[in-house]
Amino acid sequence: MTRKDFLSTMAAMFGTVSLGTAAKAMSDAFPEDGRLMPVFFIGHGSPMNAIEDNVFVKGWKAALADVPQPKAILCVSAHWLTRGTLVTAMERPKTIHDFGGFPKELFAVQYPAAGEPALARVVRDVVKHTPVGLDQDWGLDHGTWSVLKPVFPEADIPVIQVSIDIERSGKWHYDLAKELASLRRRGVLVIGSGNMVHNLRMIDFAMKRTGFDWAVEINDTFKKHILRGDHAPLCDYKSLGKSAAMAIPTPDHYYPLLYALAMQSTDEQAVIFNDQAIMGSLTMTSVRIG
Ligand code: ZN
Repeated sequence: MTRKDFLSTMAAMFGTVSLGTAAKAMSDAFPEDGRLMPVFFIGHGSPMNAIEDNVFVKGWKAALADVPQPKAILCVSAHWLTRGTLVTAMERPKTIHDFGGFPKELFAVQYPAAGEPALARVVRDVVKHTPVGLDQDWGLDHGTWSVLKPVFPEADIPVIQVSIDIERSGKWHYDLAKELASLRRRGVLVIGSGNMVHNLRMIDFAMKRTGFDWAVEINDTFKKHILRGDHAPLCDYKSLGKSAAMAIPTPDHYYPLLYALAMQSTDEQAVIFNDQAIMGSLTMTSVRIG
């Protein structure tokens, strides 16, 4: 048997031919293009931001104004919680109005961005941390479209979402997100969409643009660690005490922050924007890296 025959026999036995083909398809679909896209955590707040022109929306637009045109957007939204990890893989994701008690005009909003099944497959293939399922049912929830609608109103960039496995720890999500960091070199804009401080049961509508002492205190602690690149205590947020427990009664709105931080290179400095507490127990504080 020649070496070539031997290799093709081994390939047939162990499937290396198909693995090689998959890797090639992956690099063909989203090759590295010499750029390093920035990555964001966006404090999304009320879904009404989708149709209001307020200071937070202005802040999003300003922070994303100089971002190179992405080939696709990957959003990790606080509003897609699953057991296991999924990525949207449909051609035409629907606009999901996953809220109640808002005006009719908000329910009329559509964000008709295309999906990107090829990128969904790249996500599935680069993540070794856990199996990633290709989802055909979800779509774009308001954690995604309430931010993208004002910033990319043309909806002409394909969008996929990656779900949050709500049974996992902060460190688990951080480690998963590290495996997605290479997407920044493939022309993909990654956005985590949530709120660092998010306690809906304690909301005080009269407080409008202020926060309770504990909310401001823990938000300052979060920022201090973010600006130092000190991510371990942010992953282990329960170690940050009582204020953190009040800020994060459930981790759905916090975990998207860890996705953005995990993609930070050692030579990059995080920048904070929209740093504002609202309604007592929420913060809109957002982060740009790169
Ligand atoms: Zn939300």
